[in-house]
Order: sequence, then C-alpha cells, then structure tokens
Amino acid sequence: MTLCIFNVKVKPLMNIIDSFKILIFASVIVSTILAGYVYNKGGNSQSLRYLSGLLFANVVYATSYFFEITATSLNQIKFFLNMEYLGIFFIPIFWVFIAWSYHPGKSPYNQNLLRNLRFLYFIPIIVNLFVWTNEWHHLIYYNIGIKYNLSISLIDVERAPGFWVINSIIILLYLVATFRMVYNFIRSKGNQRKQYLLLSLAAVPPFISYILILKQAIPYSIDLNPIAFALSGLLLFWGIGNLQLFNILPIAQKLVIDVMRDAMIVLDTKGCLLECNLPAQLMFVNDTQTLFKVPLSQLNPHLSPLFSHSSDTYEIEIVLPGTEEIKSFSVHRVLISDRHNRTRGNLYLLHDITDIGKYVKELELLASFDGLTNLLNHRQFMNLANKEANRLQKQGSGKFSLIMFDLDNFKAINDAFGHSAGDNVLQQIGQIVPQQVPSYDLCARYGGEEFVILLYDTAIIEATALAEKIRSVIEQTNFTFHDTELQITASFGVSTYSPQYKNSWEITLNQADTALYQAKDAGRNVVISFQVPDTL
Ligand code: GH3
Ligand code: MG
Ligand code: MG
Repeated sequence: MTLCIFNVKVKPLMNIIDSFKILIFASVIVSTILAGYVYNKGGNSQSLRYLSGLLFANVVYATSYFFEITATSLNQIKFFLNMEYLGIFFIPIFWVFIAWSYHPGKSPYNQNLLRNLRFLYFIPIIVNLFVWTNEWHHLIYYNIGIKYNLSISLIDVERAPGFWVINSIIILLYLVATFRMVYNFIRSKGNQRKQYLLLSLAAVPPFISYILILKQAIPYSIDLNPIAFALSGLLLFWGIGNLQLFNILPIAQKLVIDVMRDAMIVLDTKGCLLECNLPAQLMFVNDTQTLFKVPLSQLNPHLSPLFSHSSDTYEIEIVLPGTEEIKSFSVHRVLISDRHNRTRGNLYLLHDITDIGKYVKELELLASFDGLTNLLNHRQFMNLANKEANRLQKQGSGKFSLIMFDLDNFKAINDAFGHSAGDNVLQQIGQIVPQQVPSYDLCARYGGEEFVILLYDTAIIEATALAEKIRSVIEQTNFTFHDTELQITASFGVSTYSPQYKNSWEITLNQADTALYQAKDAGRNVVISFQVPDTL
C-alpha cells in the first residue's frame, strides 16, 4: 500500500490545489445546506423531492470526493472513488425525473410515465455493482494509481471500455433531460419560460465540467463536478426564491381548475386554445396532445355558438363529441387584457345546466297541472288563454270559445258519501271530459268543482254543442266509489272571445260564468250560451 501524502515544492500550485480543496469542501457544505433546505420545502411538489434527491446525491458525491482527495492510502482512495459512484450516478437519474415531473402551472399528467421511468433507478444500482467489483473484472478501470505528487491525492486511472459505457449513459441521460427542458423553454411563455430557461442553464456547469473531465482537459484531472453541481444548486436556489421555481401553488391552482365541474376554456384573440381544464377537454374531438394553439372550431365545430354572443353571460347548446346528446351550458365570459389594457383573449366558463333545464321543465309541468284531476290548473289555464287572446289581438281577427261548468249539488255528495268520494268523482271528471274535447284544446280545473274548457278557433254554436255533449256524458256516467254508484250532473255556461268585440278576454270569462249562473238558476244540468253579436 502506497502512502499518498506528498509535499509540494511549487507554492502557486499549492495555492491552486488548496483553493480547490477548499472549494470542494465548500461544495459539500453548500450541497448539504441546499439539500436540507429543498428537502424541507419539498411538501407535495414531486419535482422538489427529486431536486432534493439530486442534491443529496451530490452531497454523497462531493463528500466522497473530498475524502478521496484527502485520503492517505490507495485503498482509501479506491474506497472513496467507489463511494462517489453511489452519488454521481443518481444525479442524472434525478435530473431526468425533474425534467419529466416539472410542469409549472400544470398538473402532472404524465404520472404513468414517471412511474414507468422508475426502472432508471436500476442503472445506478447495476453500475455500482460493476464499480465495486472492478478489482475482479477490470471492466471499468484497468488500473488505479496516484498521478501526481501534490498535497492532495489525485487518482491516475487507466480507463477500460466499461468506463466509457457508463459515462456515455450519464451523458445521454443529461442530454435527454436537458433537451426536454430546452423544449419546454421554447414552448412556454412568461414566467414559465424563465423557469425552464433557468433549469436548462442549471444543466450547463455540470455538463461542461463533465466533458472536460472525460477529455482530461483539466490540469491534474481534478474533478470539478461537485463544484459544478453546487453551482447549479445555487442557481436553482435563486430560482426558488425569485422565479417561484418548484412552487407548488400554480400546480395546486391547476388541480383546482381540473377538479371543478365547470369547463374552462381560454382562447386567444384568434380563437385558438391557450388553456383549458379536464372537463373542457371532454368537449373536444382531438386528443390532448394536439389541443393547444388549435382553433376552437377544429376542436369541436359545435362550440362555435360560444362566439356568437355579445353579452358576457349567455346560454348555449352544444353536442359533445361521440354523443348525440344536446347539452345546455350557461357561459360566463371574461375578457383577458394585459398590463397595457390590450385584449389578449377570453376566458370562458361553461356550467352544464342540462339537468337544471330538465328539472325546471319538470317543475314547470308540475306547477301547470292540478294534482287531483290531472287537468291544467287555474294559473296555467289563465296563462295559456291570455297568450291566445294576445295572439288574436295582434292578428286582429279569429276567436275562441270558453265552456265553464260546475258540478251540481256537489256538497251533497261530500255530505252523503264523504270527502274522498267527492275527490273520486272529481278525478273521474278529469278523465271523462278531455275524452270529449279535441286534444289541442285546453281543459282546466278552474277551482273546487268548477271546470273550464278553451276551444281554439271555435264559434259559439260548436262550443255550445260540445258543452251539451259533455253535459249529457256526465249525466249518463255512473261514477263509482268503492261499491257505491253515484249520479251527478253539471251546469254549463258558454261564451266566445274575439278581438272584434273590443272586450278583454277576461270579460268573456265572466260572460261564461254569468251564463253558468243562469244555468244554475234555470234548474241545473243545462247549457246556456252567452249571447254574442251576429258578426261571428
Ligand atoms: P251548486 O249546484 O250550486 O254548485 O251546489 P254545490 O253544492 O256544488 O255548490 P257549493 O258551492 O255549495 O259547494 C261546492 C262544494 O264542493 C263545497 C266543497 O266542499 C266541495 N269541494 C270543493 N272542492 C272540493 C274538492 O277538492 N274535493 C271535494 N271532495 N269536495 C270539494
Ligand atoms: Mg257546484
Ligand atoms: Mg262551485
């Protein structure tokens, strides 16, 4: 075993070497502090965890190198040289993971890819197996010795083919990861662009020192890598403080945007997609890789109604790709302007109101009908009658007739057979009467045991005839309640509305009511029509 401490005669050289030793020591300290800081800051950021892994690997590397250059025997040197490999080979692996996990402002979509990349951890394990067993196979180094008589121990190695293989792998991993960061740099904008630039720049010092080492271009073959990695660490540390590098807030914001139910679409002034969340992607025909910068009209032609509104809140109906279903969305549009108040695009929030629309229709339906008889209720009848009267009013001609009828002596039914018997009769009236009336006409329960029918475009004579028919049907019907058969009659009043009468349609309603009372006075179970001018 050779002792490797040698005294140096040339003073300036000693200064350089001593400075180098101090620099390596400083790199150990800096890397340790940074690794600890990043580890603590890590939290939920996957990239930060990889960065702390990278910095810890550099701590192992730099520390081993520091012990290597201060070692006192060849065996020690060999041991620490092997220890270096424990650190150095994990560094490019973590660099690859950082490159693939870091998406400022985007949720990590490629979780699966990252999971698949875990096989990369085997590379340092296998390489270390070869390195630690080099004495037996000499695949990495033919020979390891001491190179110079300096105040530090520097190795003199004869590199075997395995050395070039493992270093090619390291360089390849570096290049792949760095290209990815440069690619992201080219594609991104604003602060994200600065972040990717910084990450790309952080790859430069280790890369240069690595190439210099491989080319044996550095005097005494000293290894500048630990210093280069510490420098990169400092650069990234600066980025964490100044560029929100590895800041998980944008990622969290993106996650929030993705988990919300509403679709979010950001378009530039030309209508091309700048940003969107996951629910919005379900509206597009293309797959996720080709969404961005693509005109929205290509992503889903049905989304064009998004542009055809001048107000900021509106509703649209669109067909989702792969379905025939028409979906309704309420849209909220927000104009995006830059610092100089120039329009940069629009943000659209689309809230799916298809179900709400269905519920509203159901509620409207429920609110339109009478629960007992299933006929239109008073409110809905008044609405529809009013609508028809307005239509005729605008038209200035046309007519409709009203039949109003009230069950005779209904109180007696209730009194004799109970309220539920009365209810049952009302239910049966609700079934019988519409059968006599054309389906497009309106049958309504006006109140209590009073009913009203609107016959579109029907003159008083036909209306009176129909009323007579209904009267007769009610009279002849055996209303059954449990085992009891009941007979009932009704009294009818008929009137006709026309805009030519210069009356409101409510007056016509009163006229039908008046006629109905006349029918009651006339002894019930009769039809009386209100007298109308001869002009109709
Ligand atoms: P008339 O021939 O003069 O119309 O006599 P009537 O007994 O039918 O008239 P009245 O106004 O004196 O009584 C109406 C009755 O209808 C009183 C009320 O208890 C009954 N009625 C109103 N709505 C309902 C209902 O929903 N169910 C039942 N079972 N009875 C009702
Ligand atoms: Mg009655
Ligand atoms: Mg009544």
